[in-house]
Amino acid sequence: MTTYIMKFGGTSVGSIEAMQQAAKIIKSCADQGHRLVVVVSAMRGVTDALIQSAKSAAAGDEAAYKSIIEQLRDRHHGVLDGLSLNEHENSPLLSIIDQHMDELSVFCRSIHVMGEVTPRGMDAITSLGERLNARIFSTALRQVGLNSQAVNATELIITDTAFQNAMPIMDITRQQLTKRLLPLLDDGVVPVVTGFIGATQDGIITTLGRGGSDYTAAILGAGLNADEVWTWTDVDGVMTADPRIVPNAQVIPEISFNEISELAYFGAKVLHPKTIRPIIERDIPLWVKNTFNPSHPGTRICIMPAKSKGKVTAISTVSDLSMITVEGRGMLGVPGIAARTFAAVARTGASVLMISQASSEQSISFLIPADSTTEVIQSVESEMSLELTRRDIDRIWAQDGVTIVTVVGASLRTTPGIAAQIFSALAGGAINVIAIAQGSSEYSISLVVSEQDANDAMQRIHDKVILNA
Ligand code: ASP
Ligand code: MG
Repeated sequence: MTTYIMKFGGTSVGSIEAMQQAAKIIKSCADQGHRLVVVVSAMRGVTDALIQSAKSAAAGDEAAYKSIIEQLRDRHHGVLDGLSLNEHENSPLLSIIDQHMDELSVFCRSIHVMGEVTPRGMDAITSLGERLNARIFSTALRQVGLNSQAVNATELIITDTAFQNAMPIMDITRQQLTKRLLPLLDDGVVPVVTGFIGATQDGIITTLGRGGSDYTAAILGAGLNADEVWTWTDVDGVMTADPRIVPNAQVIPEISFNEISELAYFGAKVLHPKTIRPIIERDIPLWVKNTFNPSHPGTRICIMPAKSKGKVTAISTVSDLSMITVEGRGMLGVPGIAARTFAAVARTGASVLMISQASSEQSISFLIPADSTTEVIQSVESEMSLELTRRDIDRIWAQDGVTIVTVVGASLRTTPGIAAQIFSALAGGAINVIAIAQGSSEYSISLVVSEQDANDAMQRIHDKVILNA
């Protein structure tokens, strides 16, 4: 018997129609005799609204947080009405919605009094969306005749205490999953598990980071040794490029875990970047499929795609960045400059997205989010104040408005000449490449171009190197 983990994202369970569609998909899979564990996100927009309610409360805006709570209550009531449940199902669910919203009011009131919200408090609040939706969606599954039960992932996924970005403790989690979910599966129950959340060993609610429901599905897949993990979303699969920028982008039928992880880190919003970690070791294939177009095969992500024909699989970009350059002739051969530079960056909390240093060693350049530019420059300047006075370092400066274009493909490691094709595609558009870095994994090459050139760069590389393969 095959065991599937099926995760439905915010849009896939974001309205009555979507829920009914998702329920139909699950029903037909269950009817084929498969064992299914469902993971749900909060309804689309709910997590954002919850965060906003907490922030408004912290900022002292009582009217704003109260109105968000009422909107959330209305939205969940509306879905409940639309499901037209029998009285036996309806009234408990109605009181669950009200209980959760009352809980949110209490949280917001105390945040309002304290004037701040802690990461732990934020997790208690943001978990409400998934906790509610698992109950609602499980009811929708019972309505189509499935035996379903909502399960809070706080009982399953045991994490460290890094609130808002918690990591599962896998051995304990595996035990919990086996103990709690296997008996349900054996009884033919379809559990609906809350995505995104977990709990510490002391039972305090944590979250796995924004978009974390994908990660939940993968943790469940690994912990239960599932045959496959399917994430249902509102696009046909992983695309060769962002279709809003590259209109002729195509769905990628198969892509490797290594390639997708380069894409996930570089801004393709398809999967939470940590998703593949739990399943890659066990080689559990991961599918990305479209709830609203279920007959489309979608994208299969696995260790070794069968037919990796193209040279390059996909491109993505990260924008709103600045490139910081530390330069000076006195840096040549001096050990420790890089370490001190990046330690100074780390002290600001800014994350570095790309690094490039020429072998002449007269400059180091790195990319950071634009909004940390001033802080990072100040921090590196103060770290290097002696070198700056001695003129060993001439200057530390920022180039704003740059974008990283990342080209991903397993065959970058084996096929010579792809870099040349990429550069000639760019030269065709007279696009200047500001910096280059190749991951040592050789699954990707990243190019820095100015923001104005980024879309054109994407389109040219896409057409010349991906489509032309
Ligand atoms: N609801 C959470 C979020 O919006 C988790 C998810 O949707 O994956 O970030
Ligand atoms: Mg998502």
